[in-house]
Amino acid sequence: MGEVLTNIWDKILRTFQQEYNALWRHWFEQLEPLSLDGGILRIGVAEESWRQYLSLRCSGGLTSAAQRITGHFVTIEYAMPGERTDADRRQTSEQAVVLDASEITYFNPDYTFDNFVVGPSNRLAHAACVAVSESPGETYNPLFIHGSVGLGKTHIMQAACQALKKRNPASKILYLTCETFVNDFVRALRQGDLYDFRYKYRYVDVLVIDDIQFLTEKEQSQEEFFHTFNSLYQSRKQIIISADSPPSEIPKLEDRLISRFNQGLVTRIDNPAFETRMAILYNKAALRGINPPEDVISFIAERITSNTRELEGALTKVYGYAMLGDGKITMELARQALGVESIPRHSQVTISQIIDAITSHFNVKLSDLQGKRRSRSIAYPRQICMYLARELTRHSLEEIGGHFGGRDHTTVMHSCRNIDNLCDHDPQVRDLVDSLVASLTK
Ligand code: ADP
Ligand code: MG
Repeated sequence: MGEVLTNIWDKILRTFQQEYNALWRHWFEQLEPLSLDGGILRIGVAEESWRQYLSLRCSGGLTSAAQRITGHFVTIEYAMPGERTDADRRQTSEQAVVLDASEITYFNPDYTFDNFVVGPSNRLAHAACVAVSESPGETYNPLFIHGSVGLGKTHIMQAACQALKKRNPASKILYLTCETFVNDFVRALRQGDLYDFRYKYRYVDVLVIDDIQFLTEKEQSQEEFFHTFNSLYQSRKQIIISADSPPSEIPKLEDRLISRFNQGLVTRIDNPAFETRMAILYNKAALRGINPPEDVISFIAERITSNTRELEGALTKVYGYAMLGDGKITMELARQALGVESIPRHSQVTISQIIDAITSHFNVKLSDLQGKRRSRSIAYPRQICMYLARELTRHSLEEIGGHFGGRDHTTVMHSCRNIDNLCDHDPQVRDLVDSLVASLTK
């Protein structure tokens, strides 16, 4: 059975790698097939973050590969060393988790200090995060990291959390996006259980809030956050915050919050320089177990200068092209993948220009486009934005999704299809799209 199982698992992995190369990580090679019994394929994982990554991001792809390879309906379970059954797992993780299930924080296993490339653009932010992870509440408190989208704020903050957790597994770390904080607060208000809410936020050792600019114009949440902040600060608990701009430039943020944020260290992450971009590409390639030649790496680093997420998108694209052929990454292939021979007519149009055009035409806010609301008044402009981004820019679907609140590529694809359809059947939509395209490309 052992060898058969290893064979099956190997086939599943290869299929997955081909079909979902962007999700593939080199540590998949270390996953260990334990048993295939009663339709359950058990896979041994070495770290909790691996399990989370696999079950949250890869389960669809892996299950469908497993079903095709075995010809049976198969469910995949992941087991840490020492766990015998799924029930054991639930029990162990219940014991290990300090906060209740809804607050189990998902940390991306890619987002560690080891995988973070340090350069002039992020040196200070990195040093501060390392210091904080070594002695939380003592060095820089609060630590405020700002920079535009895709420059590594989430990565470096999660790295600090993961390092802290390793150093001190018992410490209570609450990492969440500001949007979650606000939603949680609104729910608590509605249900009248502010006590629980406050208990949850004020009795932690480290509170990390990502994208605090989301507090804009939410007076009551700001007020609540102010008190949360004070309570933690007074008990010398560490607070780490990120935003897309420095405290004083976040629109409609109360002065008292601005001054609290400025009490600690405010540090910025800039666009990475060429050498840092090269190093990041090497790092991302290694994570996926690929080894592109240096000329391809520098070719990508030269062409993609805006942000790191797009850099990664370009690598994914090149790799995707390679997987369609013999798997070899060459300059010629990179050129093809990044469309150098056929730079689209409108390569000068940027996603921000598209967003500007849409927000003013529909009178919606950027935060709506990036938010979760699905009402037609928001969803329709959002879909048009994604459609135009696909038509007029060279960004990949993944990158486009990243600009709209981190939606995944299937959502972007769906949006584009929807607008395509509408254009075919509704002359009004077609006219609107035509006029937007005309004004963006004139
Ligand atoms: P932000 O939160 O600032 O929008 P993210 O943290 O989501 O950005 O980073 C976007 C992508 O870029 C992630 O995949 C992240 O791993 C990568 N990244 C950014 N900066 C670095 C870096 N210095 N080294 C390695 N990867 C990086
Ligand atoms: Mg982020």
